[in-house]
Amino acid sequence: MEQKRTFSRNSSAGRPPLSGRRTPARGGTFGGSRRSPARGARKGQHIDISRFINKTVITEEAVVFVPEHLFKDFNIDARLKANILTKGYNEPTPIQDRVIPHILHGQDVVGIANTGTGKTAAFLVPLINKVLANPNKEKVLVLAPTRELAQQIEAELKEFVKGLKIFSVCCVGGAPIGRQINDLRYHNNFVIGTPGRIKDLIERKCLDLSGFKSVVLDEADRMLDMGFINDMKFLMSLMSKEDRHTLFFSATLSKEIEALIKDFLKDPVMVSVKTQDTSKNVEQDVVHIKAGEDKIEVLHNLLIQPEFKKVLIFGRTKHGVEKLSHSLVQRGFKAQSIHGDKNQGQRQRALDLFKKDVAQVLVATDVAARGLDIAGVSHVINFDIPETYDDYVHRIGRTGRAGKSGKALTFIG
Ligand code: ADP
Ligand code: MG
Repeated sequence: MEQKRTFSRNSSAGRPPLSGRRTPARGGTFGGSRRSPARGARKGQHIDISRFINKTVITEEAVVFVPEHLFKDFNIDARLKANILTKGYNEPTPIQDRVIPHILHGQDVVGIANTGTGKTAAFLVPLINKVLANPNKEKVLVLAPTRELAQQIEAELKEFVKGLKIFSVCCVGGAPIGRQINDLRYHNNFVIGTPGRIKDLIERKCLDLSGFKSVVLDEADRMLDMGFINDMKFLMSLMSKEDRHTLFFSATLSKEIEALIKDFLKDPVMVSVKTQDTSKNVEQDVVHIKAGEDKIEVLHNLLIQPEFKKVLIFGRTKHGVEKLSHSLVQRGFKAQSIHGDKNQGQRQRALDLFKKDVAQVLVATDVAARGLDIAGVSHVINFDIPETYDDYVHRIGRTGRAGKSGKALTFIG
């Protein structure tokens, strides 16, 4: 459901920019290590844990994504385009591809997309463009659930606005408020922060939202989970819905989220994007391993439960897989293993025993398990976190096949 609608806005209030003010430098918060998930190249440690949890899934067919636009096709300021390219973004991610044109048209937008799909640039790029058209007046408020997220957004903003005289301040809890109060005395095009701190600053009369015509609620579902609902409502009430440009991003679409969308946005364009989704038949969750807890003990306690009928366990290394399989056999489980140190015959035999339900457990490395199609796997357990999100999707795709339901558990800790 996408409707076209444009409207012009006049920003009224607005403090003049303070000439000569420089944006404080932030030393390379994001090095080259940040990668695009669209390219599936994330190391396990960088996979957001929330991507291993999925109890209510909205799925669309996983298809290879071909963007409709390139960044150079967007109707945006040439200087901004240059900065985007310098940052190394060539093609937009799906959410960027689909929402940027609507935001450029001034429409309210709801973007539903998983973590790590490039939502930050999806709202920053068109909003920076808007600010560039009227830098002395245009002001944007960005609300995010956590300190780290707010800081991350500001860091990305700074890269996009290099040399463009666009100013920002990040207002988050846990950081000295005095400095934020001081920074707020100047003209800022972007105020980025967590709802609690922003509200505090308003109550101290250090921030006045009446001149803000654009607002982003990033990770709205998490803000809701974290109990920011009243702060969000309070902040939104300070800006008139009618001439406010509101952008709303969330990874999930629950009843509560829909209620917020109805409250906060007017005739929004709804864009739901799932790049590489996991089967809706697989319930995903994590198992937290506490300090001092033995992973094998935790695994043992799962495997003795009756519903763990046919369990595929993934480990990172051949050695680790072999060792784990031995430990399980010693504990009395019927376990087999497949990994690259076994010859084809041994692998086939292990697989057959698992397929025929002679073995309850098969422990495997990623490579050995590529393409395996085993009927009736009840659980996939990631004993070790997968290297990439693609590996994760592949692993858990071993269960929930052929219309059956399955469960995927990832050990983290
Ligand atoms: P989200 O907000 O959806 O969780 P982010 O905006 O944090 O996702 O982006 C995730 C990662 O993808 C970041 O490392 C970011 O730099 C990178 N990224 C975003 N858009 C692009 C793009 N168009 N091309 C390449 N990398 C991108
Ligand atoms: Mg984000």
